[in-house]
Amino acid sequence: MSLSRDKIYLDGSWVPPSSGETIPVENPATEEILGHVPAGAAEDVDRAVAAARRAFPGWAQTSMAERGAVLGKLHESLAARAGDIARTVGLELGAPLKVAKSVQAGLPLLVLRGYADLAAEPVREETIGNSLVVHEPVGVVGAITPWNYPLHQVVAKVAAALAAGCTVVLKPSELTPLVAYLLFDAADEAGLPPGVLNLVPGTGPVVGAALAGHPDVDMVSFTGSTATGRAITHAAADRIARVSLELGGKSANVILEDADVTRAVKVGVANAFLNSGQTCTAWTRMLVHRSHYRAAVEIAAAAAATYPTGDPFDEGTRLGPLVSAAQRDRVRGFIARAGARQVAGDAAVPDRGHFVAPTVFADVDPASELAQEEVFGPVLSIIEFDSDDHAVEIANNSRYGLAGGVWGSEDRAMAVARRMRTGAVDVNGGSFNPVAPFGGYKQSGLGRELGPYGLAEFQQTKAIQR
Ligand code: NAD
Repeated sequence: MSLSRDKIYLDGSWVPPSSGETIPVENPATEEILGHVPAGAAEDVDRAVAAARRAFPGWAQTSMAERGAVLGKLHESLAARAGDIARTVGLELGAPLKVAKSVQAGLPLLVLRGYADLAAEPVREETIGNSLVVHEPVGVVGAITPWNYPLHQVVAKVAAALAAGCTVVLKPSELTPLVAYLLFDAADEAGLPPGVLNLVPGTGPVVGAALAGHPDVDMVSFTGSTATGRAITHAAADRIARVSLELGGKSANVILEDADVTRAVKVGVANAFLNSGQTCTAWTRMLVHRSHYRAAVEIAAAAAATYPTGDPFDEGTRLGPLVSAAQRDRVRGFIARAGARQVAGDAAVPDRGHFVAPTVFADVDPASELAQEEVFGPVLSIIEFDSDDHAVEIANNSRYGLAGGVWGSEDRAMAVARRMRTGAVDVNGGSFNPVAPFGGYKQSGLGRELGPYGLAEFQQTKAIQR
């Protein structure tokens, strides 16, 4: 059955795009074409931005509570599609069923519900001296998203922007556009006011660039690679438009001398391999105190063997394919050039589809390409350190700063966590918090998503003196 879609979503309805050009969507596990979506053009972006601009004054004047109620309806319509969401992400990304259900479908529903609830809370206004400080929506938002968590990354932007009172034009990744269509089916059903949320699928250089450079877009909210984030920042700079960026990472998992090594390594391997390693927060560098180093390498190699790789719809599969042939070849290139001791990576994978076996390297040079570049595949690097200071030095020796982990006695691990130059650190396996601020230091990004900090990204601050 073809999953093709032939419309874009503007002003509250499905309408034909300006041209008949299309983009094929591939199933990366089988290399079959699942269907086609429109290849939007700059003209479609103009129409969508105009719709969002027209809708903005009315939407901005609704109360936060009213917007929360609309998000609640959207959540209801989207939740009714949870099975379709998991299946669609399984097909277009190759996410194994379990991850597709729990993370790829479950997380965006949680985030959307969270913003509906946050919007229902009393609005926070602050008094500073004779000033009343109020928060207002930034305006029309261009949202540009990647393929690795294709619905979550969309919802993290859309839910926060709509709650804040902004209107949105979304361009999802051309590799995984189908799940975004499910969000718009839900929006259509939920009866969002026309123009508040618009969809223009297409490629980055055409639709993405047109959105980023559009004179009537007040803010560009982007998730993706650092290189594209840079191009978007340049495009927005001419008109001083606000930009928020969630970019790449090369996160360190630090296993201190007094850590529970077995648990730290097993959780660390699972983190590095989540979503076939296509996770911006993945702990791709495992830093281990010399007293545990040999044991950690053995445990990691053994753990890698417990990740059957293959058909995402097979219940036993823990690793699916990479999203595209280009991504697979890029990852294989990093493996071929690694120059370190490979201790896992020769497990059998299907011939057809873009698969890479779970791979572990030991004795990785912290300055090498493998330890510095974002691989975005199931590849873990293990590095030895001598002291807590040494671990912090290696962890911070990166142009990225998105996430990380530390394992050890509470006080010692907390002290190391505070010294890591990253937007988030999990101590002793602290679990992901969907309302905590999420974002990067250094070249991992600008701004924060999720929870109240994510809402604030889409707000202006006004001081009214009395
Ligand atoms: P990408 O930068 O190639 O693409 C992301 C989006 O930008 C896509 O929709 C693409 O079409 C669009 N785009 C491409 N060129 C553009 C241009 N010139 N102007 C405007 N838009 C353009 O990234 P990707 O390959 O889709 O995703 C993988 C990368 O994203 C990884 O580096 C990963 O670390 C990063 N990422 C970061 C986070 C985070 O939250 N920090 C989350 C997921 C992915």
